[in-house]
Amino acid sequence: MTLELEKRVSSINGLGVFVRGMIARDETFYAVPVSQLYATPRARCARIGEKRYVDDNEVLNWVNHSCEPNSQLLLRGEKPFLFALRDIQDEEITVDYDETELHERTVACSCGTRSCRGYFFVSG
Ligand SMILES: [Zn+2]
Repeated sequence: MTLELEKRVSSINGLGVFVRGMIARDETFYAVPVSQLYATPRARCARIGEKRYVDDNEVLNWVNHSCEPNSQLLLRGEKPFLFALRDIQDEEITVDYDETELHERTVACSCGTRSCRGYFFVSG
């Protein structure tokens, strides 16, 4: 993929993943590599299925949650993808963790959006 994603300091939390350039709405812009999988929740690892947590230290581990995300982690079959919910230009990539993680534990949210629920869920 030619798309440029980079880790930078985020105003939401710690480091985030930012796109340099433009991603069009409805674009599937990142295929998550699934070479490193775990059966139980681990720090930073995203849930991509029943007892499937992926460790993608290049990109996905660093994508922050937002209550008004610009992207979605799509779990189609065995291959997870990041999908653009709107045009995204030179900004941080965010997803709604509540859509894919188990609702086992809450974390205070600092996404700062108007519709912020104040917390989000994580597995484990
Ligand atoms: Zn929020």
